[in-house]
Amino acid sequence: MNTKTTSVDCPNCKKSVEWADENNFRPFCSKRCKLIDFGGWASERNSIPGESVYPAAEDEYDQ
Ligand SMILES: [Zn+2]
Repeated sequence: MNTKTTSVDCPNCKKSVEWADENNFRPFCSKRCKLIDFGGWASERNSIPGESVYPAAEDEYDQ
């Protein structure tokens, strides 16, 4: 088994992120970075008026 810890750079803020199963936001460092990045490409690629891009948007306020 590989017990070595893998780290990646957060695509949003470039912070080193531990690639662990418990990190639900990987490769991002936090929910905030994930939402910022996802919202960025989602609004560019899925700009469908009247349709919610990500239904879990209320999680944004659960900081
Ligand atoms: Zn980050």
